[in-house]
Amino acid sequence: MNNKKANSKRSILITGAGGFIGGHLVKYFLKQGVKRIRAVDIKPLAEWYQLDERAQNLNLDLRDLANCRVAVEGVDEVYNLAADMGGMGFIETHKALCMLNVLINTHLLLAAKEAAVKRYFYASSACVYALDKQKNADITGLKESDAYPANPEDGYGWEKLFAERMCRHFSEDFALETRAARFHNVYGPHGAYDGGREKAPAAIIRKVVAAKMSGKHEIEIWGDGLQSRTFMYIDDCVKGIDLIMHSDIKEPINLGRSELVTVNELVSLVEDIAGLKLRRTYKLDAPKGVRGRSSDNTLIKMHLNWEPSISLREGMKKTYEWIEGEMRKGGDE
Ligand code: NAD
Repeated sequence: MNNKKANSKRSILITGAGGFIGGHLVKYFLKQGVKRIRAVDIKPLAEWYQLDERAQNLNLDLRDLANCRVAVEGVDEVYNLAADMGGMGFIETHKALCMLNVLINTHLLLAAKEAAVKRYFYASSACVYALDKQKNADITGLKESDAYPANPEDGYGWEKLFAERMCRHFSEDFALETRAARFHNVYGPHGAYDGGREKAPAAIIRKVVAAKMSGKHEIEIWGDGLQSRTFMYIDDCVKGIDLIMHSDIKEPINLGRSELVTVNELVSLVEDIAGLKLRRTYKLDAPKGVRGRSSDNTLIKMHLNWEPSISLREGMKKTYEWIEGEMRKGGDE
């Protein structure tokens, strides 16, 4: 499927292309030889994290059905990464906004069906998993079946679970081929690292770089630092999206690393990369999400003989270098 000839003929739509994962996906497919890429985001082009002139870049609000019709016109494949979202600090305090993302997926599915799009990819999340299965920091990986009985993250997770199901029923009832991947914490360069939408890896790097630049060697950690997660580097994520989209996997599937680390361990890793040690304080009432969350990769390995494998140290080093560069350019403290 990934041969250059087939790729040069394909016409694809990437939504949320002004954001973190969407921006990388545009670059990834350009590298794969896809010539006709339409990239769409609600943000003005000047605010996109990455902008590549080889794609057709459009500024559209995809909550609107008419805009979705414009976006899907003439495309073979849709990659829906558009969502109003952010890290725990954002999703715990903007539940209604997160649920309004339902308009994007609903209208995009309708437009894709009308336009007889061949395949549709939906970016779901580990936030669909039932909260009662994530109470321990030493959790074993979450299996795809752990999303039911439904008890997902309030707001954001409910919308993701609903949208996954809508994809499934569009496949069953309208013969629109859909694929859905449940991303587990994606990180890398060209993402949010301040402003309130950033996630733990970028936020920790920003705090360490700020401490290094200011000489004030302390860091505030959200929660007690013992909460555990897995983190997937962006290059693994975009490759996984491509593999899942062009597979026969019809049910939502985990796309994440299985290596579990605590937030304290993540801080130690970043300190190590930066070459300094910080005095830690813990903000126990800060948004911190579930206690433990990890990805069971049995299914993805079975279907694709592949799983995300880029090490946390390698990925965090690249991310650190990018964020440090941005902060030094901007004179951030
Ligand atoms: P991001 O915020 O960097 O990108 C999302 C983009 O969608 C933004 O640029 C935003 O402007 C755009 N958008 C929002 N509303 C829109 C609208 N109405 N019309 C058009 N564009 C709109 O986020 P990301 O990290 O790149 O996430 C991409 C997708 O992956 C999202 O669906 C997200 O929920 C999902 N996801 C991400 C992670 C992660 O760790 N980053 C984890 C799980 C799921």
